[in-house]
Amino acid sequence: MGGKYVEKSVSTRNLSLLSKARNHLKAIMLGAKLFIRPIRITYRYPIVKEIPQEGYRGFIVLDDQKCIGCSLCARICPASAMKMFQPQEKKLRPAINYERCVFCGYCVDICPENALKHARTHDVVFESGESMLYIGEKFTVDPDTQLLTGNVRMYRVKVDDKRGLIYEPIR
Ligand code: SF4
Ligand code: SF4
Repeated sequence: MGGKYVEKSVSTRNLSLLSKARNHLKAIMLGAKLFIRPIRITYRYPIVKEIPQEGYRGFIVLDDQKCIGCSLCARICPASAMKMFQPQEKKLRPAINYERCVFCGYCVDICPENALKHARTHDVVFESGESMLYIGEKFTVDPDTQLLTGNVRMYRVKVDDKRGLIYEPIR
């Protein structure tokens, strides 16, 4: 196949003087607009936090009262992050290792008792590998309750046709 692909850069395009002046003016106007009214695309974490939309697949919380210890969540986990364990004289319960979890949500979807749910929290700092293992009572604490009562400003991200991503304050 013959043919030649020739890419013309902006500088080599045959623009008239008037077009060039118009483009320069547009760029200057845009710069002035952003200087007067800057569009923030970042926020001051952790003073300001983003609340993900409903249905966000954040951390997973176990409702110990609902769990029947069937092990389906551990069996379906593609990353071997969910494992069953049985503390002495207690019932068989799942535990999750966030070092391995890929947040696919299979475990939540397959649970026949709705004993697992996703929290909307996704930003947690771990100090060690061991602290990423959620076992026993630790796995039953909903991180959203801490997030929603914390002394932080909260925003929800929205897509605006003209301005792109915008942060709508919700608290
Ligand atoms: S979310 Fe996915 S990877 Fe994480 S524990 Fe559940 S099934 Fe495993
Ligand atoms: S699938 Fe649900 S009921 Fe079964 S062990 Fe996991 S959390 Fe418990």
